[in-house]
Amino acid sequence: MAQIEQLLKYQSEDEKLLRLERETANSDERKNYSQAKAFLTKAPEKLEGLEAKANELTKLLEQLNKQYSDIYETLQDFENLDELIDGGADISFYKKNVLQITERLKSIKAEVAALTKSIKDADEEYQSMKKKTIAVQKQYAEYAETYKAYKESKLAEMNAIKAQLEKLAAGIAPDVMQRYLSKRNERIFPILCAVSNGRCSKCGTELSLSAKEKIESGQPTECDNCHRFLYKEQ
Ligand SMILES: [Zn+2]
Repeated sequence: MAQIEQLLKYQSEDEKLLRLERETANSDERKNYSQAKAFLTKAPEKLEGLEAKANELTKLLEQLNKQYSDIYETLQDFENLDELIDGGADISFYKKNVLQITERLKSIKAEVAALTKSIKDADEEYQSMKKKTIAVQKQYAEYAETYKAYKESKLAEMNAIKAQLEKLAAGIAPDVMQRYLSKRNERIFPILCAVSNGRCSKCGTELSLSAKEKIESGQPTECDNCHRFLYKEQ
């Protein structure tokens, strides 16, 4: 019985530590700090990607502009259309050609306009990302400092609890303590649960006869399903 009682005392002290740990993990101080950190970790890659995109679009635009001037030049060949007609050439053939080329030029012009807009957007996105990165860099130092101070403010309280836990652990068999701590690491909490109507009160699994006997004698017994330590409700 003593083991379980000691474990229960340990757990109730441990719960205070867990509350502080969760408070710290969920604090705005930590969130600000880790968000800024995550942003800055990804920022260089993102900036590089945006720059590469803008470069690629610019190259495409250059190609398109070249295409436009090449075709435009071809159109100049039709300047002396009148002479060709006078010479007895088939006018419908030339007319059709000029029309086709003009259509192609129109469509390239539209593509150029769309691409120019995309480049402008990409550049704006890059600039705003750069601006944000610089701002977050400044914030990050501040957030890191604030978070550090916040953690330090909790330290005294946490250390007092840890000292208490150490004292309580001295009265618990090392192997039982080890099992408790590994459950704690697996984020199982509470680690000890009362037995209610022959079942684990946490998950409802029915206890075997031998488990019931062990609990009666106060030995640390685990639930077959959720692996929590079970104890007889007082
Ligand atoms: Zn259970």
